[in-house]
Parts: sequence; structure tokens; C-alpha cells
Amino acid sequence: MTLNLESLAADILKGSARALARGLTVVEKGGVAAEALSERIYRHAGAAHVVGITGSPGTGKSTLARALARLARVRGLTVGIVAVDPSSPFSGGSILGDRIRMNDLSMDPGVFVRSMATRGALGGLCPAVADSVDLMDAAGKKLVIVETVGVGQDEVDIMELAQTVLVVSVPGLGDDIQTLKAGILEIADLHVVNKADRPEASRLVADLNSIAMLAAPVQRAWVPPVLSCVAVREEGIEPILDAVTQHAAALRNSGEMESRHRRIVKARVLRIAQQLLKSAIGNPGNDSEAMLGRVARRDLGPHACARVLLASMAAFNEASRDAADPLRPPQESSAR
Ligand code: GDP
Repeated sequence: MTLNLESLAADILKGSARALARGLTVVEKGGVAAEALSERIYRHAGAAHVVGITGSPGTGKSTLARALARLARVRGLTVGIVAVDPSSPFSGGSILGDRIRMNDLSMDPGVFVRSMATRGALGGLCPAVADSVDLMDAAGKKLVIVETVGVGQDEVDIMELAQTVLVVSVPGLGDDIQTLKAGILEIADLHVVNKADRPEASRLVADLNSIAMLAAPVQRAWVPPVLSCVAVREEGIEPILDAVTQHAAALRNSGEMESRHRRIVKARVLRIAQQLLKSAIGNPGNDSEAMLGRVARRDLGPHACARVLLASMAAFNEASRDAADPLRPPQESSAR
């Protein structure tokens, strides 16, 4: 099947849901077509506010994402949801769970929900997640919610993708302050205590409040608020969406939006470079195996090897991309 990336990209930009679904499949699969599509879409994205939701499995992130999406729709915003599921194999079965849960939203053309498996080659969020966010953004979604599964590195990685990070915790389930993963409190722009219908919720709110105050530097413009909700009943969702909007405004007013965006871009480029390098090492098309053998025999130093491989792989990657994407515009400036 030949894939016309030009017309696919054009249809995505026109807001076609069918094209968006197809485009997401392309970026999820990765490889040269994904790269080519991403490059065509990238400059048309950037209008959406990207919200990351993280927290341990079972805290209610999916439920909260859906409740936020529904409220955002009431407020006239179009919404994209990317549910990241690193545990399932590529195009694996567990994706279905999210699709069914999100089903009621899929009736609304103003909401686009997509579950995706990350390949997790490097741990954390793979480049396809950011590409998917761009696709939704370029397709016109004004709010894009990225929901991570809450396992391993992806919890902290979400800050390399989202402008506003919501950290969800719940009372009772051993999810107390002491057991929250290291680093997770620091990345929160907003703490959400979900399942506030359970006992001990107010204590968790109080604990998080004192920590949020301590963690925020004195002169910081934004102290992460701690809000509680019962996502399953859609209670307490309004103040959360309000806080997201306020956070976006605070970022813009303080100039932090720009620095945050720079940080996100830097992390993204680094991640892509890492993935390119990883896929090039061990590729039979180059002599990386032989070089690694030399390092193993202490015939070549690891630093020298890394430098030589980097240089040779840059050439290799460029050549393979050109070969596989004949449509690729010759000059960056014409890649529209
Ligand atoms: P995720 O793994 O973090 O995405 O969590 P889910 O959204 O799948 O929710 C896990 C379970 O918690 C589901 O059975 C939800 O129905 C339930 N749940 C979600 N929100 C609430 C809530 O506010 N109160 C209670 N009691 N249960 C909730």
C-alpha cells in the first residue's frame, strides 16, 4: 500500500478524523513514514495546551481525563486524549480496555481519543507520543491530554511533553506522601487527590499542601494547588480545569511558557537522537558490531568508539531516510 503523506498531512490539517486516525497509526508504527509525517505536521502544531496526567496505576487517571474532556467540551474546547500504555505490546490487546472506557466520548466529533503502546526501547515515553500530540494539535484540538500509565520513567518524562502536569494521588492505597515516587512531587503543577469519596482524603490534601508549599521556591509565581475530586462521579472537575487554565495563563505571564517549551523541545530532540542511535547500533548496515567487539577486547576505548559510531551513524541515518522517503522535500524551508 502506498501512502501519500502529502495528502494525509493536508487532510489532518483540515481536521479529518479519519486522516488523524490514520496519521496516528503511522506515527505509532515509527520509522521513516512516521518521521516524514511528523516533519510535515510539526510547524502547524503549537496552538494546543498540552496537559499531562500522571500518577500510579489505578488512581483514576483515565476517569479524570474523560471527565476533564467532557467539561472542556461543555466549555467549547475540542479535545484530544493520548492514553499511553507502555505495558502492551505494539498494537496489542490491552489497548482495547481504554477504547471501551472512553467509548462514550468517541461519539463526540469534538473529542479524539487514542490509546497507544510505547515500545519503551529507552524506557519512558517514546518519540511517537510527542508526534501524536502534534497530530492532534495540528488537527485543531485545543486541549490535548496525555495520560500515562504511571509506571517507571514515564511519570517523570511527562514533564518533557506537557505544559501543565497533573499528578494524581489517592488516599488509602499506600499512595501516601512517603510512598510517592521520588521526583513525582517536584514535577506537579497541580496535585489532584482523586477518590475523595474515600476516608483520609482530606489528610492527603493537607499533606500535599504542606509539601507543595515547601517545594515551591519563595519567588515562584505558581504554587501548585492541591485539588480533590471524585472523578468517577465527575465531582470537583471544574476547579481542576480552571486551575489548568490559570496555570497556562501564569506560564504565559511569567515568561515561563517559553523556557518550558525550550526544555520540552530539547528533551524531544535528545530522545529522537537517542532512538536513532540505538536503532543504528547493531544495524547490519554498519560495522558497529565489529567496533563493539574491539571495545570488548580492549582494543578500542568506549569513548572513541562512541564518537566514531556517532559520526558514521549520522551519515547512515541520513542516507536511509532519503532512500525510504523520496517525497522528502530537498530543503527544510519547503517542507510544508
Ligand atoms: P488509571 O489506571 O489511573 O487510569 O485509573 P482508572 O481511571 O482506570 O480508575 C481505576 C478505578 O478507580 C476504576 O475502577 C474507576 O472506576 C475507579 N475510580 C476512578 N475515580 C474514582 C473516584 O473518584 N472514586 C472511586 N471510589 N473510584 C474511582
